[in-house]
Formats: sequence, C-alpha cells, structure tokens
Amino acid sequence: MTNEDVKKLSGEFIANTYSRFDVAIESGKGVFCKDFDGKEYIDFTSGIGVNSLGFCDNKWIDAIARQARTLNHTSNLYYTLPGARLAEKLCLRTGMKKVFFSNSGAEANECAIKAARKYSFDKYGADRYEIITLQNSFHGRTIATLSATGQSVFHKFFDPFVEGFVYAKANDTEDLLSKITDKTCAIMLEVIQGEGGVLELMPGFLDEIAEVAQKKDILIIADEVQTGIGRCGTLFGYQGFQFVPNILSCAKGLAGGLPLGATLFDEKTADVLSPGSHATTFGANPIVCSAAEAVLDRLNQELLLDIMQKGIYMRVEIAKMPHVISVNGQGLMIGVEMDIDNKVVAQKCIQAGLLVLTAKDKLRLLPPLTITIEEARAGLDILNKVLSDM
Ligand SMILES: *Cc1c(COP(=O)(O)O)cnc(C)c1O
Repeated sequence: MTNEDVKKLSGEFIANTYSRFDVAIESGKGVFCKDFDGKEYIDFTSGIGVNSLGFCDNKWIDAIARQARTLNHTSNLYYTLPGARLAEKLCLRTGMKKVFFSNSGAEANECAIKAARKYSFDKYGADRYEIITLQNSFHGRTIATLSATGQSVFHKFFDPFVEGFVYAKANDTEDLLSKITDKTCAIMLEVIQGEGGVLELMPGFLDEIAEVAQKKDILIIADEVQTGIGRCGTLFGYQGFQFVPNILSCAKGLAGGLPLGATLFDEKTADVLSPGSHATTFGANPIVCSAAEAVLDRLNQELLLDIMQKGIYMRVEIAKMPHVISVNGQGLMIGVEMDIDNKVVAQKCIQAGLLVLTAKDKLRLLPPLTITIEEARAGLDILNKVLSDM
C-alpha cells in the first residue's frame, strides 16, 4: 500500500467531507509518525489536540489492553469502575461535583446546553432558555452546537437551526452585557478560541462577565474541548484565570486518542440531569475511560509545568523566525500570525517532514504534551527553514 492507494480507496468509499493533505499516516510512536510511502514526520498536531501523550504511548497501550481483556463494554444499566474512577479524578482536580461521559466534543457541549436549559427551567420556568455565545467561537457540528457556534459561515444549508442562541463580541464586556435579558440562562465560551485562530479571552473580560453572571444566576459554560487536559499548561484553561465555570465540557485530549467527551458540573448544576433526562449508549466506555485515566495520571504538576515551559520556549523561538508577525496562545496551544499564506506554509512544512495545523489565517501548533525540548527544536528547525525559504 502507498499513500496513493489509501487516498484512492478513501476517495471511493469515504464521504467527501474533508479537504486533506496528500499524506496517509501508517504508524507512529511518540512525536514521530510515518506515511505509507515510508516518509517520516515530526508531529506538531497531536491529531487535532487529541494524542496528548503522542502516538501509541506504552503505558496508554497497557491501560487499554488490560481493560480490553477485563471488560470492554456493558451498558449504563450497570455500574462499571473505570468511568467512576475517572470521574473522581476529574472532580478532585477541578472541584467540580459530577461528570457525564459522552463520545465527542459536540456531545459534551450538547449535554452542557441541555443541562443549562434544564437548570433554568427547573428554577425559573419555561421562558429563560437563551445562551449567549461569542462571535468567532466553535462548539461542534451537531445542529445545536452549530447553532451555538458564533460564525455565520456555519449557519447555512441545514436550516432550521436551533433557536435561543445569541452572539456577543469576544473581549467586549459592554456588548456582552447588552445581550443579557430576562431570557438568558447561560454564557458559553472558550477561554482561548481554538478553531477561531487561537484567540485568547482577556482576564478582565472574563472576570467582569463572571461577576455579572453570578449575580443574575446565569451559568458560565466553559467549552474546554481544545484548551483542556493540560494543553494550556494547567489541567483546564480556566485554571489560568480567576473565574470558575458552572459547567465545563472537554473531549479531544481527554483519552489520548480514543473518543471520549465529558461534561463536568459544579455544586449548583450537579443534580440538574436526572434519570431519563440524558443518556448515550457508549458513555463511560470502560476501555476509553481507562485510556483517559492513563492520560490524567501522567498529567501531574511536573508535566504541567514542563508544558508551560516548553510552550514559552517554542513561542520565543517562533517569534524570531522570518515572516512571523505575532505568536500567541498558552502552553502547547500556539497560534502564529504570518505575512504569508498559512495554507502554503502548512503544505511546505509537510513536504519538509513537519505536521502542522492551521486555524483561520494562522498556523496552529498543538504538539503532544510529552514532546521533549530536543524534539521541539527539531520541528522548529524545519519550520524555520520553510519560512526562511519563502
Ligand atoms: C473540536 C472542538 C469541538 C468539537 O469537538 P468534536 O469532538 O469534533 O465534536 C467543540 N468545541 C471546541 C472548542 C473544539 O475545539
């Protein structure tokens, strides 16, 4: 099999929803992977922030294999241990009280939206259902999470969208406060907008809206699908700010390369979802939860500090490179603004053996959290060469 063979087979049978690079990845270990033509790459993408421990980490494999031999799946009609243990770990490290497990970021957000509306319904009745989200946000591809996504490019083809979402400008307190009405039940945000181009929310903005929200009993939902699980150098991105969300969603990096979403609830919202109000067949799958435990166990204070330091190192080095206008982000979530076409840069990086992502008109880097400084330097050397030759 060659790259071309895999591309041809996919073209024939896989729905044509992705524009892909001309590469088919065959295998990987750590920060390195290999395509079907035998070419090697350094990975600055982790999937899209999914492979927290890189490709095929040994302890992660052991956790999965052990659980696969013990119990692969039952259903949520019975109790199972890995999900309960994982939920305990997530709660202990955030102060949140309860967890609902699903299978993706969109589902974790869907659950957050349902819970926010039900919290308000239970307490205030039927008409308080509006959720304020931010312009340029990204919350997923289901109809409700697309409706929550504050980008009009996503609001076509699939009408009618879900009612009850109102969009406010990010980092504009006045605009957001002007959108609050008697119907508002929640504000949903990413502390760093990932797909929107690695754009950070300002601490002042977050503190101000969190204060008003608390006074009016409006819930804050943090979509930490991309910023969570150590990506920003804290277990969750909000932990680098003053505010604490009422509901938190995460997914991508949670199980280190297997599909798992989680919605975390604080004291206020812990008991909103009751038997029958929400469910999913695969939720808290034992194998996937064991994989996530392996990720969380690795993400101790030492690794979190290391992520912060590696992130600073990478941003400083990138800022010195030709064509770079600005570098931002936190930890190992890095956005690079350039004066040249980001798609061309990404293409050339891949040809030169470095996998990178784009977001809007930026280059986006989400390397594995376990990358070493030497590996980061090797990848940065490739990026520097690509930029120098343009
Ligand atoms: C990727 C992403 C989602 C959607 O996650 P899926 O697993 O693709 O459904 C939602 N929110 C944010 C912030 C994301 O980055």
